[in-house]
Amino acid sequence: MFDSAEKWHGFVATLKFPTTHIVGVERITSPQQMTVVNPTTGKIVTNIAQGTEIEIDLAVAAARNAFDNGPWPRLAPRERKEHMLKFADTIESHRDELAALVTLEMGKPISDSWGIELNALLRTIRWFAELADKIYDEVPHVGEGALALITREPVGVVGVVTPWNFPLTLTGWKIAPALAVGCTLVIKPSEISSLSVLRLAELALESGIPAGVINVVTGLGTEAGKALGVHNDVDALAFTGSTATGRQFLHYSADSNLKHVWLELGGKSANIVFADAPDLEAAAQAAAWGIRFNSGQMCTAPTRLLLQRSIQHSFTNRVIEILQEIKVGDPFDPLTQMGPIASAKQLNTINSHIESARSRNLQEVLKSSTIESDGFWLSPVVFSGILPDDALAQEEIFGPVLAVIAFDTEEEAVHIANNSKYGLAAAIWTSDLSRAHKVARKIKAGTVWVNCYEEGDLTVPFGGMKQSGNGRDKSIHALDKYLEIKTTWVQL
Ligand code: NAD
Repeated sequence: MFDSAEKWHGFVATLKFPTTHIVGVERITSPQQMTVVNPTTGKIVTNIAQGTEIEIDLAVAAARNAFDNGPWPRLAPRERKEHMLKFADTIESHRDELAALVTLEMGKPISDSWGIELNALLRTIRWFAELADKIYDEVPHVGEGALALITREPVGVVGVVTPWNFPLTLTGWKIAPALAVGCTLVIKPSEISSLSVLRLAELALESGIPAGVINVVTGLGTEAGKALGVHNDVDALAFTGSTATGRQFLHYSADSNLKHVWLELGGKSANIVFADAPDLEAAAQAAAWGIRFNSGQMCTAPTRLLLQRSIQHSFTNRVIEILQEIKVGDPFDPLTQMGPIASAKQLNTINSHIESARSRNLQEVLKSSTIESDGFWLSPVVFSGILPDDALAQEEIFGPVLAVIAFDTEEEAVHIANNSKYGLAAAIWTSDLSRAHKVARKIKAGTVWVNCYEEGDLTVPFGGMKQSGNGRDKSIHALDKYLEIKTTWVQL
């Protein structure tokens, strides 16, 4: 990792961008091109191929051929493990390049791209590689006259559609378990963050992952994404993105071959701080981190801060103090904590939520500071005294906008936390152990943190309840998405 913005900019100037689809071992392009824009400057980085159903058809055919006739699903799991470990080593040796692409295309601070994003990708691929040859099937006791086998088979060709906020981590969460069990893949990355995913697929080929196992088609969601969703030769579709788009993928499946659809969707996570929290300073630091990290563009961002009334003002003031001190600026500066918003469209969406809140005369206790640049900038914004049913507490904004909500009792906190169509994550800060467990049980969310935020490990599953999705990424439970269960009954 370079130690200055100047060195990073110098390095970026030497990069050759991948701009074509990857289908088998071929680099193919499309008549239509789309632009990749640097959100830090608003300037065009490069043009890339804008695929449609034509290129999706080619990519699915390549993945189908690799699945039906190629070596990948037929390798001993031990051999798939070796391939995946080599893939991870190849990624690691291109760490600067991948991190730079992420920062260039979506504005994540380079220390987070190089650290958090690449660490997550590498750990995920290595963890699932190690799991590949440790999966056992089942033989139930069915009496002397028969032998029953419950075996798991790779589901086949998997379509992967991802968002732009963690382009490599989220791609890794899908492809690593799918690769481990022998599936082949067609990835449609977000149009905002395709460069890093294209480079990842090139590195897969360079590292020896066989042709056709990982294919990438870049393009718009409504064209290439939809074409993958409705494709009759795709066996499962693993999606991460907004709830609205997730709903479309269920329609696509219903209208085509009833492929399995796995959804990791939006969130509006409640971060509940009781007055008896063991360390209020740690809670304030976590609340502030959660709203500025990745410019608030995180599905699990703690965007609803629920404060017990006695600490409401002091805690809010402390969060504001911390947010005022963060370093916002050039994401290629290794000291930068917060970069731009990923796109002009996303900035407009966030600003329209802020304008709407202002029009309802909500109390804006921290306004965004003005940043003189052509890029897409917004620093953290905090609204206080928000009612649980207000749009600011209900809608996913996907930006650095915090809604502070007061509560009095434990029951009220649980009620407010569950008063959401989403159920991705939540946190509870309290010294009372039995309260922590009682509240954690009652909250409808895929993950509940106690006295921390956003902690985790590859061993624990990640995913949502309610309209935050279904299925789980990470952990052995992620394998369920990419395996079919078969019963073989042998009459003896
Ligand atoms: P998005 O739904 O707009 O796009 C996600 C992907 O879907 C992109 O590749 C896009 O091209 C594609 N797409 C868009 N419209 C489509 C359509 N009609 N048909 C087929 N494909 C389509 O989401 P986004 O703006 O890229 O990402 C932000 C969203 O992702 C937020 O809602 C966030 O909460 C969610 N997210 C969820 C998780 C999670 O794990 N639960 C993680 C990260 C982000």
